[in-house]
Amino acid sequence: MPYVFNPTPAVSVPVVGRPERFPVHRVYCVGRNYEDHAIEMGHTGREAPFFFLKPTDALVVVNAGETGAMPYPSLTHNLHHEIELVVAIGKGGKNIAAIDAHHHIFGYAVGLDMTRRDLQNEMKKQGRPWCIGKAFDQSAPIGPITPVLDAGDIANAEITLTVNHQDRQRSQVSHLIWNIAETIEHLSKAWALQAGDLIYTGTPAGVAAVVAGDTMRGYIRGLEPLTVTIN
Ligand code: MN
Repeated sequence: MPYVFNPTPAVSVPVVGRPERFPVHRVYCVGRNYEDHAIEMGHTGREAPFFFLKPTDALVVVNAGETGAMPYPSLTHNLHHEIELVVAIGKGGKNIAAIDAHHHIFGYAVGLDMTRRDLQNEMKKQGRPWCIGKAFDQSAPIGPITPVLDAGDIANAEITLTVNHQDRQRSQVSHLIWNIAETIEHLSKAWALQAGDLIYTGTPAGVAAVVAGDTMRGYIRGLEPLTVTIN
């Protein structure tokens, strides 16, 4: 079929130990899903899960062993890091019960939900959508996806982020308010999940600013680390 211009190529993420890549469909994100982070953002820490999306082409895909590059974005003076466990959906579905959620997971990756915090806060104050604070170009670095069977006990893994080798965020995936299965249950009530969907599951406390020249290193036990420099 002829197009009026060439379509944008599909975004895909490498898979650890396999030659095939994971083709991305949508990028969902969970808000305030660790109690200590909810509290640092001025909330009680207990609320129903809520979601936002990032464009698929906002992903900055970083290969194993490489350092990715993210440009310091426009319009902000307060770019924040949020280290997150990313769940990669391998089989779609609607109204997936938490008990069945594991059948739908292909694997896991380390991701960064980069945030123009000043713009997000302004939108919150005005009751407007978060898009400009969250869904900007190159706002979603991600490392390679490790298939479930090779990833170990992700539900109890340590999750950490350093900036220029200094500790910024350090927690455990077990501290998620809504765990991976419950998140899939809630999300699949609101949207029909499809193979290729990614879910950024939320960040623990310690979010803070980065500037040009900083190098972030995200680590979740059992997964490929993610290293990204801001330039
Ligand atoms: Mn986040």
